[in-house]
Amino acid sequence: MQKIIIVGGGLAGSCLGVQLVASGCDVTVIDSGVNHSSRVAAGMINPLVFRRMTKSWRVDEFIPYAEAFYQLIEQTSGISFFHETTIRRFFSSEQERNFWLERQQTDDFSAYMHVINEEDETVFPYANQFGSGRVKNCFYLDTTTLLDVLHSLPEIHLRRESFDYTELNPAAGTYQGEHFDSIIFCEGYQSKHNPWFGTLPVDSTKGEILTVETEGLSREESLNRKCFTLHTGNGRYKVGATYVWHTDDTTLTEEGKNLLLDNLRYLTDLPVTVVAQHAGVRPTTPDRRPLMGKHVIYDKLFFFNGLGTKGYMMAPLLSKEMADFVTKETPLHTECNLNRIRS
Ligand SMILES: Cc1cc2nc3c(=O)[nH]c(=O)nc-3n(C[C@H](O)[C@H](O)[C@H](O)COP(=O)(O)OP(=O)(O)OC[C@H]3O[C@@H](n4cnc5c(N)ncnc54)[C@H](O)[C@@H]3O)c2cc1C
Repeated sequence: MQKIIIVGGGLAGSCLGVQLVASGCDVTVIDSGVNHSSRVAAGMINPLVFRRMTKSWRVDEFIPYAEAFYQLIEQTSGISFFHETTIRRFFSSEQERNFWLERQQTDDFSAYMHVINEEDETVFPYANQFGSGRVKNCFYLDTTTLLDVLHSLPEIHLRRESFDYTELNPAAGTYQGEHFDSIIFCEGYQSKHNPWFGTLPVDSTKGEILTVETEGLSREESLNRKCFTLHTGNGRYKVGATYVWHTDDTTLTEEGKNLLLDNLRYLTDLPVTVVAQHAGVRPTTPDRRPLMGKHVIYDKLFFFNGLGTKGYMMAPLLSKEMADFVTKETPLHTECNLNRIRS
């Protein structure tokens, strides 16, 4: 049985832990629990990239795999956290609407786009200058519940502490004197402190998100125009999210809150009460692809990071590919392999 340490118990490390246990490994996850972007995230799974109205990268592979993965965890734990929804996108221009009309009935897009009908043209007077379209095959997760479930799996040894880099002998594969076959770093944006992988281009993209109460928004659909809304129960909604590039500052700001509230005015003019505000840092990469692979010298050290803005869609399948790479040396997808930036 291979003995493996995963450093970081956010979305990346937690999904990878499940996959490695399923492959028959003995898995320890070390997680400091500091600044999880995974818990702050709204957990939306949106198959489209709006404005240019394209499909997300590898979406036809990622969504069916994620659906099966999360549903299996729900079944085995008996805890519900994964939900289907519809996103209603209010077009930002005539061009965006035309892109939709061109694509909605094509083989490539019909799984993700409802055909626009009369109601889509007229509903929501504030936001409807260019009409709207409804996205199919969308989901959202209660992210905190998912992570709590993954952290309580009896097969995974969870240690709530910081990984001590000085205690790792990378050549021997020993940590605090104990031998491991592989040590896999899933530290999110905090990987910049890592002595072996810290020079890899994982950027920090701050995001703030609100929880609000209002009577003015749809409970059935996630609305999307300048911001998104997601009903989480009892008249409460998540409203997100801001993007501030190249910063790992996690403080809550008035600027972030006011920007989200101003954007929400495009969707409702009814009163809104802010119940909570959160900030997190997304681990992003310059080419918007994950960074996965092995250390160039130490072949027991691995890296799984850069899940960016769509981690909840990608993590289930990417963690399977990472587990197969670590345990069976199955080659990684070329666009994920960190060798792409070494050559
Ligand atoms: C505001 C906001 C909204 C978002 N909304 C969505 C969304 O709707 N849908 C979506 O798919 N994605 C969303 N994301 C992105 C998503 O959160 C990320 O893609 C994903 O959570 C990244 O997971 P991760 O495990 O790589 O990083 P993290 O969640 O940052 O986890 C890394 C973990 O490693 C631990 N760690 C780091 N270094 C060490 C160490 N040396 N020792 C021990 N532990 C360590 C940290 O404490 C942390 O727990 C959002 C992000 C933000 C900020």
